[in-house]
Order: sequence, then structure tokens, then C-alpha cells
Amino acid sequence: MIWNPAAERMTAAARAALQWDRLRVTLAWAAEHVPFYAERLRGGRTLGSLAELASLPFTRKSDLREHYPFGLFAVARGELARLHASSGTKGKPTVVGYTAGDLDVWREVMARVLVAAGARAGDTLHNAFGYGLFTGGLGFHEGAERVGLCVVPVSGGNTARQMLLLTDLRPAGLCATPSFALHIAETFVEQGDDPRALGLRYGLYGAEPWTEGLRAALERAFGCPAYDVYGLSEIIGPGVAGECEARRGLHLADDHFLPEIIDPVTGAVRPPGTEGELVLTTLSKRALPLIRYRTADITTLDDTPCVCGRTSARIARVKGRADDMLIVRGVNLYPSEVENTLLGVEEVVPHYQLVVDRTSTLARLEVQVEPAPAVIERCGGFDATHPTLSALRQRIRERLAHAIGLTAEVTVVAPRTLPRSEGKAVRVIEQPIRPR
Ligand SMILES: [Zn+2]
Repeated sequence: MIWNPAAERMTAAARAALQWDRLRVTLAWAAEHVPFYAERLRGGRTLGSLAELASLPFTRKSDLREHYPFGLFAVARGELARLHASSGTKGKPTVVGYTAGDLDVWREVMARVLVAAGARAGDTLHNAFGYGLFTGGLGFHEGAERVGLCVVPVSGGNTARQMLLLTDLRPAGLCATPSFALHIAETFVEQGDDPRALGLRYGLYGAEPWTEGLRAALERAFGCPAYDVYGLSEIIGPGVAGECEARRGLHLADDHFLPEIIDPVTGAVRPPGTEGELVLTTLSKRALPLIRYRTADITTLDDTPCVCGRTSARIARVKGRADDMLIVRGVNLYPSEVENTLLGVEEVVPHYQLVVDRTSTLARLEVQVEPAPAVIERCGGFDATHPTLSALRQRIRERLAHAIGLTAEVTVVAPRTLPRSEGKAVRVIEQPIRPR
């Protein structure tokens, strides 16, 4: 089922025409109402086509930070209907704003994502995304209400309460960060319960990069398909893109957000099918229009037709953030690549931590894993020096060397010592700590 066939199945020509119309309106709106854009777009010749968008300068997260809190807003305070903010890892948060119309667009794109994943009016949805300044909770909530779902606004954290409500309220769908969902499933199993007995029909996961390996683990655990959802608060929140039943890329709401893929170093536009950094231009937002916003997310754009009938462009699962890329002894690597390898090893649980030690001249990558309960049982308890664990360490080291081209130290730590996430997982520790 398609939520909005008129928008999601329009022809390529109709889509391009709509994008072009909306882009011109957005550029004029931004130049007229935001001094930052008036300055940047001034003197710039009028665009003659969509392709000429590439001639305009990028907008970066630092621009939002430097104009904190309202400097890039295009409407008066009185016209705002909602503010959200991202956590400020560098001090001040990033504040984003919505008019009532912007909130409507958000509900619309989020409704498309939910329906594409199999949500239907009358379903109950267990929403374990955090409510509050973070856009995850309310974004899913309002999109779900638009579709006609009954939402359980559990929010993040408190695993025991999540489990109780999942068991007793019998929702059709679960949405959460993938790492938290896995933690919930794992806790069910530890308590002797089978999370497949919950009878979930679908899970929607996002807000952190994850992998096909983690998808397989979640689908095995809950016995239902796991869908990838993408979004970022600067652009609107969750709902920018989401998977259909084909699960071959995430359909991007490109009638509202115009995508480009660029070389993260040179900024040059790359053709469809090439990996690079996703850049988005909002086409319908009024409160906070963003032109060529650098998402820092590494992905690929696919504009070939999808079997589901939707005609929108798709992005590949986000591989990581440009600024999360680790360079260890000259090798470029995303934490997701290590995760993919680890999730293929049955003898470890799907939690891990990477420690990058740069305190000596030669950087060192340590991968910390936990053995699966069955392995501990076979060893007669946890003993890091047990030959079984030594062999496991060696096997993981070889697999990693093959997959990422880097020799990592593998440490098998005691069960349940790696941190479990009740929100976004922190997978990488750098020593000395790198400022972000
Ligand atoms: Zn599709």
C-alpha cells in the first residue's frame, strides 16, 4: 500500500517540474527572509535549471550553530508552532523550528514511511523513540496518528517497562533505535521469554547508523521485518526517507527534500550510484529553509525504478557519518563495517565497542566483544584465557583483517560488561578523547 500515490508515484518529468517550482520558491523565500541567505544568494545569477543548484554554496551544521538560536529562521517568532533541538555536543544545541504547515509536511512524510513498512489504520504502535527535544518520538508519533494508528508513547529508556507494555498491549509495530530494540530482545531471551511470541508485524528502526547484519539479528529476534528509517532534525526529523517492502534502499521524499551526493572532501557533485555525502535542500519548509545542507551522512543515490511502484529516488542504508570515519594507520573505516563483520560471528552477542588508542605513535584499534551465553556455557564459565575464547579472538581478528584491511586487537570481555544503550549507541571510544 502507498500512502500518497499522487506524490509517491508521479512520473520523473512531473517530479522534476515540481522540484524545480518548489526550489525557485524556496530560494526566493530564503533570500527574502533570512539575512544569511540574502547575503549568500545575492549576486548569484538566477538559476536556469535544477542542475545549476550545484553552483550555490553549502549550508553546514556550523552555520546553524553560529546563528544560534534563530538566526537562520525565515519566519517571525509568532508564526512558529514548534521548536526542537539537538543535543549540543559542542556546547550550544542546534535549534530547529516549524510552522504549522511544516509540521503538516512532517506528518505527511512520516505517514509515507510508516505505511511503506506495513503500518495500517487501526494498528497499535509501540514508540520507544525518545520524546522531547529530540525529533524521534514526536515525529513518529504524529505521523502514526496521521495514518490512524493508536500510539503508545513509551519514549526511550526503562527496558523493564518497555517489555511489560510490549507483552501486555500487543502492538503491531515497534519503533526504536536498532541498538535499543536489540537490547530489549536480548533481555526477553535472558528472562526465558521469546520476543517472537509478542507477535510484532513490523519494526521501524533508525536515528543511528546500523547494518544488514543488525537487521538480520533484529528480524531473527522479533520474527518480523525490520525497516530502516532516515531523517535529521535540521531537515525535518525522521521521515526524510524510509524503506518499502522491497527493502532495496530508502525512498526519499524528494518532492520535499532535494538530494545531491557530493565528494565529502572536494564538494563536487557525484553521479547517481556513486558513494558520497548526502546534501539536502528543503523544498517546502517555511520556518527553516536550508539550501544544500551537508548532512555528513555517507550513502549512495539510486534513481532507478523500484518494484514497489514508488518513483522517488532511493538512498542506500547510511554507512556512517563523514565525521565518524576513523582513520587508523592510514585505513579509512566506518564503525558500521566492523559491526557487519561482528554480526556474522555467532559466538558473540551483537554488542561491541571500538577503542581507538592514539596515545602511542602507531594508532591501535581494539575491538571489544562479548561471548554468547552458549559459548560461556561450553567453557564452563567465563575465563578469558580459555582456548575456545582464544580461538574465537583469532577468528574474529582474521575476519576483520579480511573485511577492513586492518589488524585489530580483539578482546573478549566478560558477559554484560559492554554498555547497553537505551537510546543511541556509543560505539567508539577514542584515546585521547577527540573533541567533536
Ligand atoms: Zn520501493
